[in-house]
Amino acid sequence: MQVTQAFRFALDPTPAQERALASHAGAARFAWNWGLVACQDRYAAERMWYSGAELHKLWNAVKKTEPALAWWGENSKCVYQEAFRDLDRALREFVKSRKGARKGRRLGFPKFKRRGRCRDSFRFSTGVMRCAGRTVTLPRLGTIATHEPTRKLTRRLENGTARILSATISRTAQRWHVSFTVEVDRAVPARHARPRSAVGVDLGVKTLLTAMDDHGTVIEVAGPKALSAGLRKLRRLGKAHSRKQRGSANRAKAAARLARHHARVADLRAEVLHKATSALAARFETVVVEDLNVTGMLANRRLARAVADQGFYATRRMLEYKTRWNGGRLMVAGRWYPSSKTCSGCGSRKPSLSLAERTFRCDGCGLVLDRDVNAARNLLNLAASGAERINACGGDVRPGSAGRSPVKQEPGTAPAGQTGTAAAQAAAA
Ligand SMILES: [Zn+2]
Repeated sequence: MQVTQAFRFALDPTPAQERALASHAGAARFAWNWGLVACQDRYAAERMWYSGAELHKLWNAVKKTEPALAWWGENSKCVYQEAFRDLDRALREFVKSRKGARKGRRLGFPKFKRRGRCRDSFRFSTGVMRCAGRTVTLPRLGTIATHEPTRKLTRRLENGTARILSATISRTAQRWHVSFTVEVDRAVPARHARPRSAVGVDLGVKTLLTAMDDHGTVIEVAGPKALSAGLRKLRRLGKAHSRKQRGSANRAKAAARLARHHARVADLRAEVLHKATSALAARFETVVVEDLNVTGMLANRRLARAVADQGFYATRRMLEYKTRWNGGRLMVAGRWYPSSKTCSGCGSRKPSLSLAERTFRCDGCGLVLDRDVNAARNLLNLAASGAERINACGGDVRPGSAGRSPVKQEPGTAPAGQTGTAAAQAAAA
């Protein structure tokens, strides 16, 4: 199976290389802004924009004659071209969003990029892109030391199971990273190593995830101590930052500290999630999760931080492709399936259950169970009860009336063979 995967490495550039990186990022920003002006001018006159290819042509014609643009040759020409492609895509997505043909929240018109106010980033899609040991080699920039070994990717490049499609270089919190987009040949087993094994997974706010397997064993993954300590420090640094006077050097220093720490907490979180999801996908053929309305949850301000921290969306995405790589599948319960309010013992439903109630107590059969364990058990039961009870794609669920059970919600829309894994391309962090 061919999948598109991302491999990201932190860079340790020399001062000269760092200047070159910043210069390329500046060039990408300049090209974006230049293209945006050109598009706006054309739109005013002809009611249409330039495509990415047209912008590139225009740029090639202008750059040699315009003395103010004499510096263009200091950077790889690929960077300008990729910036025009990005702008092209942004304009198309904006139009799609305005027509209502695009999922997610509405997109605004592309904005101008300002130094220090936008993400420093640029991309190569052609030329020499390699990695070996603790180095990466990029067009124009040459060989740059990495902060970590590139073994994972190097090994695949050597045995011919990977091909680098592009390299995106970006800066987060003063550290440069390269992210290779790679086409990978993955040997996917025809069957899962443990056929018919299943697990229900409840993604939580307090614990990272609570799961119950088909033997009734409860698996809990709490965020690591380093993560909760990291979050406390994040809060402290955030407060310190907001107390500094606007525009002062101290505020800038506090902002840099905050950003650095933010990046560290994000890395830590991703690491824990990767480990947990890899283990689940390797151990269980069928993984059942709830379909979370993440956008809706983020709108709830009190929960917002906690939810964002736990990375529900990221977890779902990881489970999606990792189950596939292991010959298993991910099942997503319908959005309106009340996994928390339903008794996993007798199936009766509570009319309401506040988030503060951490223990589930059934009025019907007297079951007393940890709230998250109860939810995980319900999801596990869904796996056992057959594929037709599970909505496969998650996106197109009609809101059912409150009294409906999931089996009545969407009869026959999820044929067994298609249930579970979504079709979206996986991209691992
Ligand atoms: Zn009960």
